[in-house]
Amino acid sequence: MRARRLAPPALAAAAVGTAYWFMMSPYSQTIGPFPYRGPADRRQVALTFDDGPNEPYTSELADYLEREGIPATFFQVGRAVQRHPEVTKRLVDAGHVVGLHGHTHEFTQYLRQRTLAAELGQGMAAFAELGIRPALYRPPWLLRIPALPGLLKQHGLQVISGEFCHLLEVAQPSPERIARQALRTTRPGSITIFHDGFDGKGGDRAATVAAVKLLVPRLRDQGYDFTTVDDLLGLPAYQDAG
Ligand SMILES: [Zn+2]
Repeated sequence: MRARRLAPPALAAAAVGTAYWFMMSPYSQTIGPFPYRGPADRRQVALTFDDGPNEPYTSELADYLEREGIPATFFQVGRAVQRHPEVTKRLVDAGHVVGLHGHTHEFTQYLRQRTLAAELGQGMAAFAELGIRPALYRPPWLLRIPALPGLLKQHGLQVISGEFCHLLEVAQPSPERIARQALRTTRPGSITIFHDGFDGKGGDRAATVAAVKLLVPRLRDQGYDFTTVDDLLGLPAYQDAG
């Protein structure tokens, strides 16, 4: 029998797939440690929200979480923080944790060392205007290049991964579908990724907000409680001023 050879398009797809795994997978530890789950010894989960602040969705989430006494972690985009500084402040004042999620969220900015360095510097500056110095960073697109660990060290940032609540959340399927998929993937120590914004550009996130309201009581029924990523992983949430 003749060995089957991979056609060039299949080879190209395989190469892209491999690059994806190394650079964008929530699970790949190739470019330094990338924690996607906490210890499994307690039934605790960390709900995380990327791409905000984005109104009115971020405030709706905050209203709900505060009513339920649930602390959460928000990885926010610098320019969205500049657009809604009062929302970021409110989250911090209420005991939620905010981390950095880049400044522009433009894909190409995260591919090269020079532009990545600018994203980190500008994003941290947006928080600094509010007197906040995050210690946690989630890369936009979860994209990591080999220069990332060194740059994060310069900024005193720890990189954080997580697991997507639903792979199509960006297309806003029904709240029930998002909640059901998120429940299925939750384990003790889960760090679940939701989006209260869309690449830092706004966007309708009503289905995500509604899904969280469906998910929380179901997780409680299963004996889970909620904490922030820093607490789950035993890390500082913020850096000392100065
Ligand atoms: Zn994002």
